[in-house]
Amino acid sequence: MAEAVADLPLKPGLATVLVGDDPASHTYVRGKRRDAAEVGIVSFHNELPAETSQADLELLIDDLNADPEVHGILVQLPLPGGLDSAAITERIHPSKDVDGLHPHNLGLLVLGRRGLRPCTPSGIVRILDQYGIPTAGRRAVIVGRSFLVGRPMALMLSEHGADATVSIAHSRTTDLADLTRQADIIVAAVGVPKLIGREHVKPGATVIDVGINRTDEGLVGDADFDELIDIAGAITPVPGGVGPMTRAMLLVNTLEAARTASGS
Ligand code: NAD
Repeated sequence: MAEAVADLPLKPGLATVLVGDDPASHTYVRGKRRDAAEVGIVSFHNELPAETSQADLELLIDDLNADPEVHGILVQLPLPGGLDSAAITERIHPSKDVDGLHPHNLGLLVLGRRGLRPCTPSGIVRILDQYGIPTAGRRAVIVGRSFLVGRPMALMLSEHGADATVSIAHSRTTDLADLTRQADIIVAAVGVPKLIGREHVKPGATVIDVGINRTDEGLVGDADFDELIDIAGAITPVPGGVGPMTRAMLLVNTLEAARTASGS
């Protein structure tokens, strides 16, 4: 990636926006800035107090939209209570929306067209590709229907090229295990520690664990890794699987945004 950055006629710039003092958000943003620096992306950090008003935050986004040195804008979510995160996401210019969550970019995804795509599901597509896990004609069950992970994941796995047959499960799904046992690929994006156990997985299936749950045992995923390790054909660990890949895709999106801005 560092070579691709160096090849650009301009220096890619990522603006990070952090509102409030949530410790996990601070850790995430620090990590993202460190990643950016490692590959030669300049980061412009903006830290605001929790009591920042919607209007002031929108003014900052407007400034970053207009700044030619900024190619990507990342607003760390969740925002403190009282701030409207959907309105903030929509304020970011779609060409700088490196989280891929602006309705314009999500619309392009629905249409199967190029655009900045949400980092977590795009990272999962890369993981499947990198490990040679076929998707065409395979049955994928996505557990979780958030606009951040589950829904875009379903679109990406069912689009031309990936060609999986996709089902989406959610909190109102009955007989989850009956459904997931039919899957060649399970993507768990729920936020319930170890929800996916042996009874949910067909032998040899691939399990992609998106969940990040802080428990007394430390960070655990939505899948029970220890229970599944000898039944799944492949399984991503937590921590160390989808998380780092999500971070990497933020850099890929920033590079893509900078490339588009430079016309190269
Ligand atoms: P969310 O809370 O927006 O959505 C959770 C989804 O799970 C909902 O659609 C809900 O219907 C579904 N659900 C809840 N209980 C269920 C159940 N018992 N059975 C089936 N479905 C159920 O969460 P999100 O933003 O999609 O995140 C999901 C998890 O992934 C969280 O742990 C989050 O921290 C983690 N996450 C990780 C990364 C990463 O980079 N690894 C990125 C984003 C989110």
